[in-house]
Amino acid sequence: MTQEIFTGNFTQTDPLPAQAEAAALAVMRSGRLHRYAEAPDAPSEVSRLERAFADWAGARYALAVASGGYALATALRALGVGPGDKVLTNAFTLAPVPGAIASLGAVPVFVGVTEALVIDLEDLAAKAGEARVLLLSHMRGHIADMDRLMAICDAAGIAVVEDCAHTLGARWNGVLSGRHGVIGAYSTQSYKHMNSGEGGLLVTDDAELAAKMVLLSGSYMFYERHGAAPPPEAFAAVKYDMPNISGRMDNLRAAVLRPQLAELDARCAGWNARYRAVEAGLRGTPGLTLIERPEAEDYVMSSFQFLLLDWVEAAVRAVLDGCGARGVQLKWFGAPEPQGFTSRYGHWHYAAHDALPRTDRVLAGLIDMRLPLAFSLDDCALIARIISEEVTRVAGSRQE
Ligand SMILES: *Cc1c(COP(=O)(O)O)cnc(C)c1O
Repeated sequence: MTQEIFTGNFTQTDPLPAQAEAAALAVMRSGRLHRYAEAPDAPSEVSRLERAFADWAGARYALAVASGGYALATALRALGVGPGDKVLTNAFTLAPVPGAIASLGAVPVFVGVTEALVIDLEDLAAKAGEARVLLLSHMRGHIADMDRLMAICDAAGIAVVEDCAHTLGARWNGVLSGRHGVIGAYSTQSYKHMNSGEGGLLVTDDAELAAKMVLLSGSYMFYERHGAAPPPEAFAAVKYDMPNISGRMDNLRAAVLRPQLAELDARCAGWNARYRAVEAGLRGTPGLTLIERPEAEDYVMSSFQFLLLDWVEAAVRAVLDGCGARGVQLKWFGAPEPQGFTSRYGHWHYAAHDALPRTDRVLAGLIDMRLPLAFSLDDCALIARIISEEVTRVAGSRQE
């Protein structure tokens, strides 16, 4: 029997909406790309994006910045994190997260990951006395029990910054991701849920933190021109104390983002349909562990993860190679060397860490792939068939 092959492109991005194109052209024709190069009577594209995003998130304040990683560092700096301070964060996350902590001269304290791919709340509770800030990464869209997490952090006096690079539009118990902690941070890098190439967004209800973040982002004294910033009084108290660390968003990126916000719900529904198609196709595959999702979680999954728990390295590699040969490119968090976007805490030599054996076990078996909207539901079913066949083949040959 001939084997089925998949010919789609896993690094595919989608074209931007036509309104984004028109808005970008208008910015280019005006020449006003800098956010403070405003037309006399009209708010800038960046201010309008901030207003729209604050409204979307149900937040008092929003700030647009140059990248997701910059947003994280700005949130930490506004909270007073400085050189030598410890910051709790996920052992399972993407490199910009510990990178944001390190950029302040602060020190990440890694909290383990569970088999459900969320932060280990027991490990968090055990380490709660070590820091006064948690930079919480909802890595790959998996959301921990936020009610329990916030109870642990509130009891320990820990401020929570949510890294929602993968949970823009997702909810826990009906509350939007990014609205549980004191600050929510988002990325609009091309492989996230909205795409401006590079970009970041921050939301908070805290006027002092918002004022600090606006000043930190490089506002000079133009803060009154922001679309979703606190009133001038909030700035009076802090404007002499905040360094101007340029990381503003420009009008071109904001112009292409605003129309995407209007399409976000439809796009999230599209990703979830693809996620469920892959999930259904993989269910029941021997040796393959699916990540079961709690009922309180309204996820948005633009990628898919599964576990080959306790498989030896050669067997995992046989699955990756078998799938790769059939056009299904899988990423592996257990690989000895960091590759592409994928690395794990042991690769970040600038950050010392204790051994996390339960985390190592999960990461050693963790397989990951993107789910571009360009894939059809039939594509997703085909991808799942290929993975299932390859896993079954390798699992079978291991038992002989
Ligand atoms: C993408 C990403 C970020 C932010 O990255 P930028 O490329 O700086 O926008 C932060 N956290 C996670 C988990 C990410 O995937």
